[in-house]
Amino acid sequence: MKTAVVTGGGRGIGEAIVKRLDAEGVQIAIFDLQSANHLSSQLKNPSKTISVDVKSEESVSSAIKEVVNEWGRLDILVNNAGITKDGLAIRMKDDDWQAVLDINLTGAFYCSREALKVMMKQREGVIINISSVIGMRGNMGQANYAASKGGLIALTKTLAKEMAERNIRVNAIAPGFIETEMTKRLGQPVKDEILKRIPLKRFGTIDEVAELVSFLTKAEYITGQVIVIDGGLFI
Ligand code: NAP
Repeated sequence: MKTAVVTGGGRGIGEAIVKRLDAEGVQIAIFDLQSANHLSSQLKNPSKTISVDVKSEESVSSAIKEVVNEWGRLDILVNNAGITKDGLAIRMKDDDWQAVLDINLTGAFYCSREALKVMMKQREGVIINISSVIGMRGNMGQANYAASKGGLIALTKTLAKEMAERNIRVNAIAPGFIETEMTKRLGQPVKDEILKRIPLKRFGTIDEVAELVSFLTKAEYITGQVIVIDGGLFI
């Protein structure tokens, strides 16, 4: 049985990824702060929920060890945990800059570094990083988020180059606007403005992102890529 770690798997996009991989027969360890406990009973395969703060190297390393000690391997890592703390760059507080970089970028680095130790021994593995179109285009009021998601794309490409000879593939997904708690916070007037700019005239769904994750777990000749899923927003 394949095993996966999904960070931020307790709600939103992460929850849909967990359910999709579970339906495909993957056993999953969900890493997040607090929201995942309700999920285990809904999954078909053995699963674990571990309280992990991805910005803590110690927390990540002990959680990955727990997974590998119990299940013996790690086939798939999805770095999905992420936060926003928006504000114009000129007024952005150091703490808001750092918090977003720590979770969205450093957290993904810690999880990848720990997972790669296992995957390198297996000579097999897949990492999927949930970035954002904002990491490719920038966005007003999101300097911290854009830098973290752009950094995640650079990390993806570098790890893909470093790990290809070990048969480990590393790709990123760059969603546009997806219906989740994160986008609910935008408020209707902002949402209406965004919808005008999306050629497909709707936000994406969490299941559509999960489907892409599932595809990338099987796409054996794709590595180092950023797959955009944004309804045509940034054509
Ligand atoms: P969400 O509903 O806000 O969920 C975020 C998840 O990350 C939660 O499970 C949360 O855990 C977890 N998390 C936050 N900080 C963490 C930490 N320090 N350690 C471990 N887990 C942590 O977000 P979402 O909208 O599903 O977004 C998921 C990913 O997709 C993010 O990386 C986001 O940047 C990216 N994305 C989203 C959109 C969109 O439109 N929604 C677009 C582009 C990219 P708790 O519940 O325990 O706090």
